[in-house]
Amino acid sequence: MIAERHPAARAIKLRANAALGVVQISLPSRGGVAEALKLLDSHYGWLAAQVAKWPQPRPIRPGARIPFDGEDLTIDWHPAHKRTPMRCGDRLEIGGPEPLLAARTLRWLQAEALADLTSSTRRFAAMVEREVAQVRIGDPRGRWGSCAAPRPGEAARISYSWRLMLAPAFVRDNVVAHEVAHLVHHNHSQAFHALHASLDPHTPATKRWLARHGAGLHWVGRG
Ligand SMILES: [Zn+2]
Repeated sequence: MIAERHPAARAIKLRANAALGVVQISLPSRGGVAEALKLLDSHYGWLAAQVAKWPQPRPIRPGARIPFDGEDLTIDWHPAHKRTPMRCGDRLEIGGPEPLLAARTLRWLQAEALADLTSSTRRFAAMVEREVAQVRIGDPRGRWGSCAAPRPGEAARISYSWRLMLAPAFVRDNVVAHEVAHLVHHNHSQAFHALHASLDPHTPATKRWLARHGAGLHWVGRG
């Protein structure tokens, strides 16, 4: 449970954050504790139901299955395998010391994400005849991508969650098309949505997929 004060908050808010696996209460800059406790009490059943629906941790260990590009990969660890992970069909072969397995797998996933998202960003950017200076990956919990509006005379930078690599390609493409559409429209206007739809038509299916599975992607590598 995390309680935070937000000077700008007017109302007390209770949130069960499925991506982080925490219950968050936001309070205004002063007071509100008694009301927050009342809110907690009156929403106990709702909260318990939300928490029960949270994803399960999916630690990276020998034999574990992890989502990757819309499929499941089995972690095939053996000390005799090469240290650099190698995909063989639905297995990911990894060698080296077992304690380093999780970190090495995460690095491999992040490198795959960066390569994949960089090439699709360049492909969509070419369709709108815009330049992208840099594609970066990170692990934000609240958004799948972000596009920094460039300063005059500079090309834009786009960042993504590396966890998109765990999702099917159609989801990745739709998120990339969204960020690339921001190279033309720095807002969520009708013109932006029209351009996004013309670049990639799978926005409704992507929203549905992320609503259902998005939080679970944040539990991969946890535990
Ligand atoms: Zn946007």
